[in-house]
Amino acid sequence: MFCRNCGAEVNDNQAICLKCGVKAGTGNTFCQNCGNTVDAGASVCLNCGVALKGGAAGGAGDLAGKDKTMMIVICLLLGGLGIHNFMMGETKKGVVKIVASMCFGLGGILALIDLIKICTDKYEVDPTKLF
Ligand SMILES: [Zn+2]
Ligand SMILES: [Zn+2]
Repeated sequence: MFCRNCGAEVNDNQAICLKCGVKAGTGNTFCQNCGNTVDAGASVCLNCGVALKGGAAGGAGDLAGKDKTMMIVICLLLGGLGIHNFMMGETKKGVVKIVASMCFGLGGILALIDLIKICTDKYEVDPTKLF
């Protein structure tokens, strides 16, 4: 495979790229399969057609590797308690939802916004954000 950051060829079992030093699979400017340049943020290589791995950490539509359908169901049933946030490693968002639910009954509204974003692939997993 190729380094997604600099396009150098890296061995499949190498953890980092020896040329640029980034962790294998990080970066978004080269295809890991053919080494061609791709648009930053592209999800498929236009040269060879493979799905691009990794990319920007926590990009839109990436639910921390969780299944979309499962997250929709959990968000519907338990979203007001931020359970879907906790499952995706977003402790802060989860805590905000619990507090909002207990104090103002607003957790459900925040969960509804998340739900719409998950359904439309706009959801961004970001453990540093509160909402
Ligand atoms: Zn590299
Ligand atoms: Zn390619």
